[in-house]
Amino acid sequence: MYHETRAADGADPGGAVILGHGVSKLFGGTVVALEGATFTVKPRQFISLVGPSGCGKSTLLRMIAGLIEPSSGSLHVHGDPVGKPRRDVGMMFQRPTLMAWRTVLENVLLPTELVRKVTAADRDHALELIELVGLKDFAYAFPSQLSGGMQQRASLARLLQTGADVLLLDEPFGALDEFTRERLNLELLRIVAQFGRTTLFVTHNIQEAIFLADEVFVMTPRPGRIAGIVEVPFERPRDISLMQTVPFNE
Ligand code: ADP
Ligand code: MG
Repeated sequence: MYHETRAADGADPGGAVILGHGVSKLFGGTVVALEGATFTVKPRQFISLVGPSGCGKSTLLRMIAGLIEPSSGSLHVHGDPVGKPRRDVGMMFQRPTLMAWRTVLENVLLPTELVRKVTAADRDHALELIELVGLKDFAYAFPSQLSGGMQQRASLARLLQTGADVLLLDEPFGALDEFTRERLNLELLRIVAQFGRTTLFVTHNIQEAIFLADEVFVMTPRPGRIAGIVEVPFERPRDISLMQTVPFNE
């Protein structure tokens, strides 16, 4: 059962942000990591991608991010074929990828620094994001002084600082213990949703998947393909002021 797309390949007339048609990926010519994924992600949608371990979730995200190329099929972001990393697509991985010798603030500012001179306004914005993710008192701390969950908060602040309008979250809490992960989901996914950017969130936990999602893409076991798309029928509060806040300390 394949989801219908408006265009088989090329730019999408309906303004899809991500459009995949028959996207497959082989590694080393033999390992089928993903097979025939066909899907559409519309502007500002929050999509959860679920499926068992090894079904190709990370592979699909890495292709959307332009880190690896599809073996066949067509995959477009904002109407352009994927192929190289782009500024408007940001990705967050399962494990923190902070630079050890930089403070939280310096890490959050890094993507900006790579493209232009950092201004006072950039610093203020970064500090606001650091506060938003609950690290107000840790802006000048180094990653080694933070727990795994706190490092992921910092990674999220850095991702939001980039201004990317497509956010790819690859099991961002997968490496954390169950208890910490549940709390982080509640807090951080709400923050992500509040920004209203197009989001693809990978998890293998169905409860996490339906939390905040507009649609859930369900993938089959390996070789993975998108087997079904479940629309999550109820509205969720996207305004952070409506949301219960939980104290941050882990
Ligand atoms: P998931 O994220 O759903 O757990 P992955 O996308 O990481 O799955 O992997 C899908 C399949 O592709 C797995 O069988 C995995 O072993 C294989 N695979 C992923 N990356 C590579 C790679 N770089 N080289 C060879 N095989 C890979
Ligand atoms: Mg994965």
